[in-house]
Amino acid sequence: MTLIVHKYGGTSMGSTERIRNVAKRVGKWVRAGYHMVVVPSAMSGETNRLLGLAKELAPQHHNDAYARELDALAATGEQASSALLAIALQAEGIPSVSYAGWQVPIRTDMAYTKARIESIDDARVRADLQAGRVVIVTGFQGVDPQGNITTLGRGGSDTSAVAVAAALKAQECLIYTDVDGVYTTDPRVVPEARRLKTVSFEEMLEMASMGSKVLQIRSVEFAGKYRVPLRVLSSFTPWDIDITQEAQSGTLITFEEDEHMEQAVVSGIAFNRDEAKISVLGVPDRPGIAYQILGAVADANIDVDVIIQNLSKDGITDFSFTVNRGDYARVIDLLKNSVIPKLGASDVVGDPKICKVSIVGIGMRSHVGIAAKMFKVLSEEGINIQMISTSEIKTSVVIDEKYMELAVRALHKAFELEQAGA
Ligand code: ADP
Ligand code: ASP
Ligand code: MG
Repeated sequence: MTLIVHKYGGTSMGSTERIRNVAKRVGKWVRAGYHMVVVPSAMSGETNRLLGLAKELAPQHHNDAYARELDALAATGEQASSALLAIALQAEGIPSVSYAGWQVPIRTDMAYTKARIESIDDARVRADLQAGRVVIVTGFQGVDPQGNITTLGRGGSDTSAVAVAAALKAQECLIYTDVDGVYTTDPRVVPEARRLKTVSFEEMLEMASMGSKVLQIRSVEFAGKYRVPLRVLSSFTPWDIDITQEAQSGTLITFEEDEHMEQAVVSGIAFNRDEAKISVLGVPDRPGIAYQILGAVADANIDVDVIIQNLSKDGITDFSFTVNRGDYARVIDLLKNSVIPKLGASDVVGDPKICKVSIVGIGMRSHVGIAAKMFKVLSEEGINIQMISTSEIKTSVVIDEKYMELAVRALHKAFELEQAGA
């Protein structure tokens, strides 16, 4: 029998009424003859509420012991929504059982708040499926080698769903959310954004890593590594719409370039306002400085994004990079206290109010002048570019946060990404 994995995001699980709707939709798939595993997120707002409580009690202590408890706390959101969905399914007369990450188990490393899935034991889930039950597996969480509960980073339920689909060799992983697919950019920022019927895996990977939160980046990485067919679609259609129509709706992430029908040079625009810029000033320009600065940051398990080293003048240079805004204060402290004195640099300055805007498209491989066009559009809007980074299929700029929406809208228009007739 064919196995399908459904994932429902927070808004889709946001009330008992919505959970009942999810149960009815899943019931429709069960009646159509599919084996079903469902991965729910916490009810909308719940993860933020829980993390907010922790912050109220301890605004400062952000060490490993604290992170361990944050994960134990945040994981309860998915445990509750999973049990509620199992209850709703049972109420519909559909046998169902829910498992927390540690019960499956979904094994992760020990990086609290951003753990990576290492393996999934599928025996227990398979036994339930064989017995005719719908299996609900909590999103967002796993268990480390010492039995501690871990979470996979914000938006991590997408990754849970794709990893479970890969482990069980599901026919398809359907990501149900509050928009009806992947758009050329966030439709909440640009109402004229157009839904893509298909998007290539590589473009989706860049969009996700450049900040499109419609899919967590690791879920796209998993889908690529294990070739999991992945579709993003709406949970807000009536639950009883025709199943064939539902199965073809939304956006399919494709792996073959010729499957990718929409041949625009730029396919989408991503943005991320969750970044901060840090500059180390007056660094003696000698071998090893990048390692001394960024090695210390990496040792603290902090990701670094755009990096720039200026031309040196009289043997002295400046070194700038961006980090997640949540890590900003920690990185400044770390550099001030342990790196700058050793390095002999003169100062560390930073700006937590920046954002990154990226244009993404496979067509950029074969077209020249796309980045130049981006810079022209931004200059016409009077927006100053602070940093630039490129890859084969994307160009990103770091700009002042206050110009983000203006930049995204102007670029969306200039690259003709609007819906026909908009
Ligand atoms: P869920 O709770 O279902 O996981 P998320 O809020 O994590 O939902 O992701 C869906 C949201 O992603 C949408 O509501 C939309 O605002 C945002 N988004 C950002 N970029 C895009 C894009 N390119 N296409 C569609 N949605 C996007
Ligand atoms: N509940 C988690 C979050 O809010 C995981 C998810 O929704 O994907 O980040
Ligand atoms: Mg999400």
